[in-house]
Amino acid sequence: MSTQTLRRRIVSLLIAQEMDARELSRELGLKEKEVYAHLAHVQRSMAAAGATFSVTPSRCLLCGYLFEHRRRLTRPGRCPQCRRSKLQSPSFRVRGAADGSF
Ligand SMILES: [Zn+2]
Repeated sequence: MSTQTLRRRIVSLLIAQEMDARELSRELGLKEKEVYAHLAHVQRSMAAAGATFSVTPSRCLLCGYLFEHRRRLTRPGRCPQCRRSKLQSPSFRVRGAADGSF
């Protein structure tokens, strides 16, 4: 699959439903690391297209800390509040992009 096709596929999936990198990696047969690299590009191209790329921030499952100011899309290593690393991954959604128009 070409890079462009892959990114279109990611957008289509995220228009249909909110997903995290693990779900996208399973769906697309890519490593999570690769998914995150594509997502960074998708985020920029959606902004350029006037669509919304929204991120549900990562959250600590132990103390509830919310990583709401994190700019990177990847899952954080550990919680700054309780110092543990049981974290829910961030998840992603695209809105306002017509499927196939990018
Ligand atoms: Zn915590």
